[in-house]
Amino acid sequence: ATDGAAAAGEPVLQLRDVIKRFGSETAVSGLDLTVHEGELLTLLGPSGCGKTTTLRMIAGLETPTEGTIAVGGDVVAGDGAATPPEDRDVGLVFQEFALFPHLTVAENVAFGLDDPDSEAAAERVADLLDLVGLADYGDRSPADLSGGQRQRVALARSLAPEPDVLLLDEPFSNLDVSLRVRMREEVKRILDEAGVTAVSVTHDQEEALSISDRVAVVNDGTVEQVGDPGEVFEHPTSRFVASFLGQASFLPARVAEDGIETVVGAYDRDLLTGLGDGYVGSHVDVLVRPDDLRATPVAEGDADGEVIRRQYTGPSFVYHVKLHDGTVLRCLHNHTEEFDVGEPVAVTLVADHALAWYPAR
Ligand code: ATP
Repeated sequence: ATDGAAAAGEPVLQLRDVIKRFGSETAVSGLDLTVHEGELLTLLGPSGCGKTTTLRMIAGLETPTEGTIAVGGDVVAGDGAATPPEDRDVGLVFQEFALFPHLTVAENVAFGLDDPDSEAAAERVADLLDLVGLADYGDRSPADLSGGQRQRVALARSLAPEPDVLLLDEPFSNLDVSLRVRMREEVKRILDEAGVTAVSVTHDQEEALSISDRVAVVNDGTVEQVGDPGEVFEHPTSRFVASFLGQASFLPARVAEDGIETVVGAYDRDLLTGLGDGYVGSHVDVLVRPDDLRATPVAEGDADGEVIRRQYTGPSFVYHVKLHDGTVLRCLHNHTEEFDVGEPVAVTLVADHALAWYPAR
């Protein structure tokens, strides 16, 4: 299986050929997705690609124009079914994570339970507050919590009724950068401990790669590729997926009998993933990311191109090199390798793994 599903459990959520039109606008254009028990699957894609609309259809806040959605084996939308949101076993965490300001933390968490005043509810609330690291905060007002704490309360509240599927819509986008990184690790731990099946939505590729069990890259209302993070990053099946993940560039190359020829030198053919003999003589574009490339200052006559930009990222520098043929490549360097914009450089492929490639356009 190429969708990374082999190791996963039973399917809990299934979307089949889902289409959503708003008037003449097609927000979702034939989307298929299976989410397995206990996994966190992230929908990753650019703004406007249909991620939020997809979540809203799963939750029951929008109705698909065509196609079916099943939760826990029951069709809840399409095929004549239209289960209202409150009757779907689906929980939602929005980016605003609005809590009821007049209720305590514990009352907020108990809100979604059938019998919030029961002893069983009190126990469940205590367990959940413990799970999210807020055991001593039950009596507080949401107003007296930090942003990260409020978000954990919102998460506990959504988990309280034990939904079959938890939906997270850009749950970290309102948090500052350092809190965002901490919270996403924390949320992943909580989801794993609770054994919950979850679908999250983001346009932040680092977030998607770092916490997801699988990532579905969405483009123009349809899933372009789904797989575990390493799979979609290392083996993107399309140029779109390749360009959306990491600072990708495409290096033009010609496949020869005994290797590949590029404007930055000749390399072994096994540098490219699964390149068969049938490609000898053809032109390909090789997916290269900054850590696959190194620039070396050289005399003008030996140069492949010139540094046009030096990007300081903190731990490293990324040099943008414009080759003689106009291709721009980004090369990752540590601090000891500092040189200037305007410097003539030779570029070397230093990748220690096979690279993805696409037929030249
Ligand atoms: P973002 O990351 O910016 O939130 P998204 O991937 O979540 O984007 P959606 O919000 O699902 O994208 O929107 C997909 C497309 O459908 C967009 O072109 C949007 O303008 C359109 N759309 C969404 N909701 C409606 C609506 N209620 N009426 C009309 N068009 C809509």
